[in-house]
Amino acid sequence: MVYLDNAATTKVCESAQKAVVNAMQNDFGNPSSLYRLGLDAENIVTESARTIAQMIGCDFKEILFTSGATESNNTAILGAVSANKRAGNKIVVSAIEHPSVYEVAKALEQDGFEVEYIYPRDDGSFYPEDFAQAVDDKTIIVSCMLVNNENGALLPIERIAKAVKRKSPTVLMHTDAVQAFGKIPVNVKKLSVDLMSISGHKIYAPKGIGALYIKKGTKIKPLLFGGGQQNNMRVGTEPVPMISALAESVRELKLKQASNLAHYTRLKEYFLESIKDIDDIEYNVQNNSIPYIVSFSVDRIKSEVLLHFLEQKEIYVSSGSACSKGKKSRVLKAFGASDMKADTTLRISFSEENTTDDIDKLLENIKIGIESLAKLK
Ligand code: PMP
Repeated sequence: MVYLDNAATTKVCESAQKAVVNAMQNDFGNPSSLYRLGLDAENIVTESARTIAQMIGCDFKEILFTSGATESNNTAILGAVSANKRAGNKIVVSAIEHPSVYEVAKALEQDGFEVEYIYPRDDGSFYPEDFAQAVDDKTIIVSCMLVNNENGALLPIERIAKAVKRKSPTVLMHTDAVQAFGKIPVNVKKLSVDLMSISGHKIYAPKGIGALYIKKGTKIKPLLFGGGQQNNMRVGTEPVPMISALAESVRELKLKQASNLAHYTRLKEYFLESIKDIDDIEYNVQNNSIPYIVSFSVDRIKSEVLLHFLEQKEIYVSSGSACSKGKKSRVLKAFGASDMKADTTLRISFSEENTTDDIDKLLENIKIGIESLAKLK
């Protein structure tokens, strides 16, 4: 099998698997219980928060565990809006957000909020001043992702956050850092954000665990009500095995992040070099992007058709993103792609296990596909 879809999800690493089993077998107490078994479970939650806090440069009390980035993104935006309603009725988001931000914005729009969507300019880049200009005295929050999941674009969040705060210091800044965290250094102080979402299953932890960084003092309300866990911000008994696994994969990635990044850079360079003599494959140039996601188009072959053709050879890639499930990508179109381009785009995304052999196999089979598959008119 050649798995080249690590931006969709990753295989759980061994240390995270062991952490899950260990927490289920040995530390199965309820973190809220007052006896030893409960305290041991609570310690795991606290230590895990410390591990994640260290990785992103904050205090462990600023880490909120969630079920994943979808919940983190919803909590960040809806929680901020709910706590700051009196301040205004406007939010600003980029037009290339994941549905877990974009659909929240759409729902708020339906509820009468004003939403301003910021697009990349013709050069494919985002400009901080476009966000600052959209912010007015009614704006509650700006949400903009750090790395785009469909083409790997790296957005200038630090400059965007600073421009936004200069315009209005009370506006909250949220970033969805799912595709950046664990791949490139991410520091919340340097980025100047108040809220930041991460997800476990993109970084070799299981599905169903994520976190939200909430800067101390941020006015935000919970979405759920119940038993008071996590300072009432996200109630429900903490999923100790999943939290422990997330921390374990973060511990491992901390040591490997730099070498992994170098590995992805080599793989991307190898891919770009190898497609030079395949006329029908075109790299979708994204100037400022991280090397672990590569987006390209195959001339007039519908991406779903090629995806399933490759699947028969046990080669797994994505068309746009797993979340868009075959719909024409709104994100690629926002980046200026034509309908034809959006229809014929594939995405590959690497893990540390991928090799240049995987890329050779992928390209060999795409060449066979180019010869044999039906072409769009
Ligand atoms: N944001 C981005 C950029 C993503 O790529 C994803 C996962 N596709 C999410 C949010 C949602 O994360 P989760 O699956 O943990 O809910």
